[in-house]
Amino acid sequence: MSVIQSITVLGATGSIGVSTLDVIARHPERYRVFALTADRRWQELATQCLVHQPRYAVLKDPDSARELELELRRQGCKTEVLQGATALEQVAVHESVDAVMAAIVGAAGLLPTLAAVRAGKKVLLANKEALVMAGGLFTRAVAEHKAVLLPIDSEHNAIFQCLPNHRADYLGDGLKSSGVRKVLLTASGGPFRNTPISDLPKVTPEQACAHPNWSMGQKISVDSATMLNKGLELIEACWLFNARPQQIQVVIHPQSVIHSMVEYIDGSVLAQLGNPDMRTPIAHALAWPERIESGVASLDLIATARLDFSSPDYTRFPCLQLAQQAAEVSGTAPAILNAANEEAVAAFLQRRIRFDQIAVVIGEVLSHLPSIEPVDLAHVQGADTEARALAQQLIAHW
Ligand code: NAD
Ligand code: MG
Repeated sequence: MSVIQSITVLGATGSIGVSTLDVIARHPERYRVFALTADRRWQELATQCLVHQPRYAVLKDPDSARELELELRRQGCKTEVLQGATALEQVAVHESVDAVMAAIVGAAGLLPTLAAVRAGKKVLLANKEALVMAGGLFTRAVAEHKAVLLPIDSEHNAIFQCLPNHRADYLGDGLKSSGVRKVLLTASGGPFRNTPISDLPKVTPEQACAHPNWSMGQKISVDSATMLNKGLELIEACWLFNARPQQIQVVIHPQSVIHSMVEYIDGSVLAQLGNPDMRTPIAHALAWPERIESGVASLDLIATARLDFSSPDYTRFPCLQLAQQAAEVSGTAPAILNAANEEAVAAFLQRRIRFDQIAVVIGEVLSHLPSIEPVDLAHVQGADTEARALAQQLIAHW
């Protein structure tokens, strides 16, 4: 690895992408941006290219890529513009790349993230949907290609920090041999933790996206409001830490100061605390096993004053229970859950279905499609396609 590490940021214009570039810019002696990618927001990508001068910029959408090309040439920026899904993979596997930040939202992140794994890169994983969809194939590819997989999701980064010796080989032998009794996965409970359940059908996309503690992209904000996000995170934790769903307890902790905990068989419970700012896990994973400044302010425990904990209410959060069931079933059930959720959330954001109907869509799709053990990516993609088609049918008939 070169002294200065070259980083590809997949999903550079998103919430995680922007935080990643903020941390990288604080350490020019350590990191250089190799490639930046986005879906179609070319103006934002142009601004980022002018600041970070990457070798490549990729836009999924060809028309937006042409606009970006014109703008960068006009500004005298030398960044080469590429377009399309295969270009995302190209900049993830390039021999000059040391680390890839996987921060595309949803299933669209699977192929470029898996490509980075197969190229043996250090992969900083924010795109939890990739692991939820194809956890078995993904973790086997990590081992086979000697990739280094580091969790960016704040809870999983916290768990990683609380595991013994910050183990890099945690994919190997599971939690038990580390003396771990269980993992406590904390959840804020989102914006509707205390809303009367009878009011939930009326909530708007704006209300659902207004998370009390975290500023995030729209999709994950809605997932946090339904708590499907915590269900995806439970599945993510099973794959990352070789855990069984029963070893993971979801705990509501509204202050989002403890980012998760690990309980050992001797009764010790280790927690990682910090302000709710994704630059902490990003800086941790970028520099691991070293530590670097992230720009995050000191945690003021006196101002925090209290930390509360409670159990999740499944009547309020049926999506969490559906995800727990999909985790138990395993096979393609998590990919089906994820695809149905992506379609339902998109429909909710377009005001085509109500907030409470997100869980109904997921439940219906899961109950109609059988789970199989996926032997290759085609099985996962088949389950994803089928689940989307069925979800769209249900949404269209409402
Ligand atoms: P976001 O919506 O803010 O950004 C998504 C990024 O992905 C954008 O750059 C967008 O251009 C790109 N993108 C979207 N669709 C694409 C497609 N089809 N092809 C290529 N690129 C595409 O999302 P975010 O909040 O930054 O979340 C990114 C990922 O990180 C998600 O998987 C999310 O669950 C995870 N995550 C986010 C946070 C957070 O605080 N935002 C915390 C933990 C995990
Ligand atoms: Mg999280």
